Amino acid sequence: TMAHSKALLVLENFIGGKFVTCSSYIDSYNPSTGDVYCRVPDSGKEEVEAAVKAAKDAFSIWSSKSPLERSRILNKLADLIEHDLEAFAQAESKDQGKTITFARTVDIPRAVYNFRFFASSILHQTTECTEMATMGCVHYTSRAPVGVAGLISPWNLPLYLLTWKIAPAIACGNTVVAKPSEMTSVTAWMMCKLLEKAGVPHGVVNVVFGTGAKAGEALVCHPDVPLISFTGSTLTAQRITEKSAPHCKRLSLELGGKNPAIIFDDADLTQCIPMTLRSSFANQGEICLCTSRIFVQRGIYSEFLKRFVAEAKKWKVGNPSDPTVDVGALISEEHLEKVRSYVKKAQAEGARVLCGEGVDSLTLPAGNQKGYFMLPTVIAEVKDESCCMQEEIFGPVTCVVAFDTEEEVIKRANSVKYGLAATVWSSNVGRVHRVAQRLQAGLVWTNCWLVRDLNLPFGGMKASGIGREGAKDSYEFFTEVKTITIKH
Ligand code: NAD
Repeated sequence: TMAHSKALLVLENFIGGKFVTCSSYIDSYNPSTGDVYCRVPDSGKEEVEAAVKAAKDAFSIWSSKSPLERSRILNKLADLIEHDLEAFAQAESKDQGKTITFARTVDIPRAVYNFRFFASSILHQTTECTEMATMGCVHYTSRAPVGVAGLISPWNLPLYLLTWKIAPAIACGNTVVAKPSEMTSVTAWMMCKLLEKAGVPHGVVNVVFGTGAKAGEALVCHPDVPLISFTGSTLTAQRITEKSAPHCKRLSLELGGKNPAIIFDDADLTQCIPMTLRSSFANQGEICLCTSRIFVQRGIYSEFLKRFVAEAKKWKVGNPSDPTVDVGALISEEHLEKVRSYVKKAQAEGARVLCGEGVDSLTLPAGNQKGYFMLPTVIAEVKDESCCMQEEIFGPVTCVVAFDTEEEVIKRANSVKYGLAATVWSSNVGRVHRVAQRLQAGLVWTNCWLVRDLNLPFGGMKASGIGREGAKDSYEFFTEVKTITIKH
């Protein structure tokens, strides 16, 4: 790492409105070159303690502001991020490996929108009231912020997912301690630089950087952090659940998926094929909502496969900062190896790899030879029990299999431990409703993918999570409700 030290970007924790250095640091890589380019604080108990204290101290001021005052500040922050959108997009692409195009059009615009959305929605939340005439009583609910919220986010959509938590948490009047992924911390640090200008009082948003095992766990175990909103893997969620159990913490868990696409023989393939390519390979397949099991009805199976593979081969892999590139680098060398190992396992089991890894050759620009790249890979003839059809791969790998009947495909689609998202392609309106109702998934998209109305619940069933996020759901999670009864 010495060779790079001159150019290293060094991040600092943001505690109580100040940037503070840490006693030790971890290396962070540029996934498209394989170089260490950044050093991230390796925070632990001490730093988390300081951040929680700052958040506790700021709570009384922030929670007593009116929703309108908080809304104005959130809008200001949205404007400031939007003003620097290009710098944020460049940073996200470099830090995460995603294409600049994706960062510019998805990640950063959504981070901006997260603040705008909750700045608006907090003004429109209402509580409940019932009348009990026979008892001469009126009941109503009132909601108040809970306190210090611990927010833990993953590396795939760094600022997007972190702000999806920060925005509702502070809109509701909580103060927060956030812990982004140690692999993608840069844009969160950049956002901290804008907080004061936006008018966010010191201590309302604190960010501690570091690993899950040290910084993350210290936050989860801190007695003064009564709620934890976590997005990440199912395995980590189990650990967080265990560690927080002695404190009976309120948890929101947004976890992995093994999302099916179900394509009936009456689907409009001119729409379905490009969208299913996107749902399989967008952001290198590193989106919790990505499709990784494609069920195609027998009558159109060969045609679909032929066209799908031909199109998949056109996806350009390379330097993420090249705007013509479709697939950037995967997050880390370790993750790349894990994703590749699934393709090898499928081959060993007798499945056919139709394009991508191990089949086609990948030529990379001179500066990207050591980056963590992989071609979009399509696997066919995989058994439903295969690990490729059961486990979350989280890379540019998708499996295509045939099915015969509606009844059969629903059963097969539901036969995994996850239940996050599903897509259904058919022009039969009755069928799309029927199938959507029976799929075990928190989100079902028919004849589209990734179209989100933030007003409505987002989240998973089964091993994909507990709780939902959205206008009303996040409001409920980040507030404590009280029922008050008045006898007149
Ligand atoms: P991860 O679980 O390894 O890490 C997520 C975060 O948790 C990181 O900040 C990490 O440092 C922290 N962490 C790790 N161990 C911890 C511990 N013991 N205590 C506290 N914090 C800890 O997940 P990842 O690899 O960063 O992200 C990929 C996963 O996230 C995939 O499974 C993906 O499906 C999931 N994901 C889900 C959604 C969703 O909304 N459902 C969205 C994006 C990603």
